[in-house]
Amino acid sequence: MSTLKAVRGTRDLLPPETELWNFVEETARRVFAGYNFGEIRTPIFEDTQLFARGVGEETDIVSKEMYTWEDRARAQSEKAQSLTLRPENTAGVVRAYIEHKLGETGLLQKLYYIGPQFRRERPQKGRYRQFWQIGAEVIGPPSAGAESPLRDAEVLEMLATFLDELGITGWRLEINSVGSATDRPRYIAALREALAPVKHLMCEDNQRRAETNPLRVLDSKDPNDQEIIDKLPKIADYLDEVSKAHFAAVLAALDACGVEYEVNPRLVRGLDYYTRTTFEFTHGGLGAQNALLGGGRYDGLSEAIGGPKAPGIGFAMGEDRLILTLEAQAAKQTSFADAYLAPMGETLNPAALELARELRRGGLRVELGDGAFRLKKSFEMGNKLARKIVLFGEDELQSGILTVKDFASGEQVKVPRAELVAALKQN
Ligand code: AMP
Repeated sequence: MSTLKAVRGTRDLLPPETELWNFVEETARRVFAGYNFGEIRTPIFEDTQLFARGVGEETDIVSKEMYTWEDRARAQSEKAQSLTLRPENTAGVVRAYIEHKLGETGLLQKLYYIGPQFRRERPQKGRYRQFWQIGAEVIGPPSAGAESPLRDAEVLEMLATFLDELGITGWRLEINSVGSATDRPRYIAALREALAPVKHLMCEDNQRRAETNPLRVLDSKDPNDQEIIDKLPKIADYLDEVSKAHFAAVLAALDACGVEYEVNPRLVRGLDYYTRTTFEFTHGGLGAQNALLGGGRYDGLSEAIGGPKAPGIGFAMGEDRLILTLEAQAAKQTSFADAYLAPMGETLNPAALELARELRRGGLRVELGDGAFRLKKSFEMGNKLARKIVLFGEDELQSGILTVKDFASGEQVKVPRAELVAALKQN
């Protein structure tokens, strides 16, 4: 019998990695609570229509990637229904907002979720068929200020704070405005016109997008098509005064609180429901799938799925990618421990702990070995964890002169204990 395995594009999360997942989720809960967000948990499957209408029939997600099935009726009173594993969570949150009449409170709803999403994509590093998203939405009636650019800026500032709290360094925020429901048709018409004479020169995917969803041509990565794409009309030239003012206000608020960003006029994102602000946080360490998170404003989404006017803004982070980034950073740091402390004999362990304390208080990053290990094993472990190894037996402890070996150069020196911190700090 062949052995059964996790389905392609899905995976098991095991300890100790799950500790990192818990750390990320706990940090999200703590940081979001500080902005007065509450948690929402929506079902993992929904009526297929929700995504068709809420995400858009022409998007890759809906046209190619959904796990959809006909759910048979089990009783006369039931109807067969087309159901879909959620490929994203914003449509579900907005459905819940409408269903529970949350808008009638007259208050902004600030909701976050953490959970798995499902898309039939081509699996690769950082791209799975079941993946986790941590996301949040700010949605409410216009009277609660749901349309204010302040909300966009607050969400972006919260994300910057969250990534900083996780200890993820080197992220980049790209931001754009895709205009309002009235700006977009004018821009799309201009795009179609500009694409008409050149689209036959583009790749097959872009030829199809030029017909069905020309905005999507802008985020194509096809290297041969970039020259054409760079010359296409820019959305910024098609924004009306209100959209322009909104975008300027978001950027001004980001400037005021020191969140750095880059305006990327080609950032339109794959989901149809975005209006005005769109954004993405990327990280260079992730390779091809470099988007840590994406989001934007969706002022027309509630109405598109049959609800009241309820402007909103939100984001979804790829939790799998946050973990990959943290793991890559940790690997780098581990190899940079300053010293591996190797006592030679188990009876020296208490003295080793004392010396480790001395070195750590001196500002060093120290991995404490174990006197029960043979010398060969101490060297092997030290080499994996630290730049240098500090060796000492009973004699060295008595004389106060310890042996330090540098793994990279192979150089070995004797160092008096009082000078050890300084010696280990040298490269
Ligand atoms: P989206 O819902 O497409 O805007 O995606 C938001 C974020 O979810 C992306 O920036 C990724 O970090 C993450 N994400 C989307 N699709 C996948 C996937 N197939 N595997 C892992 N992460 C994903």
